[in-house]
Amino acid sequence: IDYRQHYFPGSRQELLQAVKKSVKAKRYQHILGVEQTALKLAAVNGVDLEQASVAALVHDYTKNRSDDEFKQAIKKYQLDDDLLNWSNFIWHGVVGAEIIKTELKITDQVILNAVRRHTVGAKIMTPLDKVIYVADFIEPGRDFPDVEVARAVAKGSLDQAVAFETKHTLTYLINGSQTIYPGAMAAYNQWVVKK
Ligand code: GDP
Ligand code: FE
Ligand code: FE
Ligand code: FE
Repeated sequence: IDYRQHYFPGSRQELLQAVKKSVKAKRYQHILGVEQTALKLAAVNGVDLEQASVAALVHDYTKNRSDDEFKQAIKKYQLDDDLLNWSNFIWHGVVGAEIIKTELKITDQVILNAVRRHTVGAKIMTPLDKVIYVADFIEPGRDFPDVEVARAVAKGSLDQAVAFETKHTLTYLINGSQTIYPGAMAAYNQWVVKK
């Protein structure tokens, strides 16, 4: 993709370097896979390719930060104190977006919202939110039972892919008796429940 530098104040190479420095090697490979898949989904679904690229490249930018850094960031950015009751899986999206804004100087709210919503989805999701949410689930490096089903669904319909992923993740969490983040329930009610 050819950057016109609308969303990141630097070259694509500079963004790649910043992301690479921020995460572990395996995570970086996942991020490149998400970008590849996000670009395909964006092209088919009428989403801006440069926004899709930047959002994909930064979506897990803070995934390998410490719990302590996230807790300090929740204070610094005056985010909801309830966030302190959760953990990395929720912080690297919602709190991560603030850290990305500060460290990478990315200010586009459409991109930052896609980062915020990439883990559990949301009641309201923009086309870019859906592209990143689904690409994160089906990128080439993902390997779990049903990933091929998810890929096939995504080829047919982005909304159906959002529904499939949301139901799949909730089912997995319930089967493992794990906590359900309220935002995940909101996404389920919006995208999975038949109307
Ligand atoms: P990744 O950052 O690329 O690994 O992917 P995600 O950001 O989509 O997800 C991170 C982790 O959060 C995964 O292991 C999910 O199973 C987990 N997760 C997603 N929603 C919930 C939830 O509501 N509750 C809990 N406990 N975990 C969740
Ligand atoms: Fe993530
Ligand atoms: Fe995900
Ligand atoms: Fe990811």
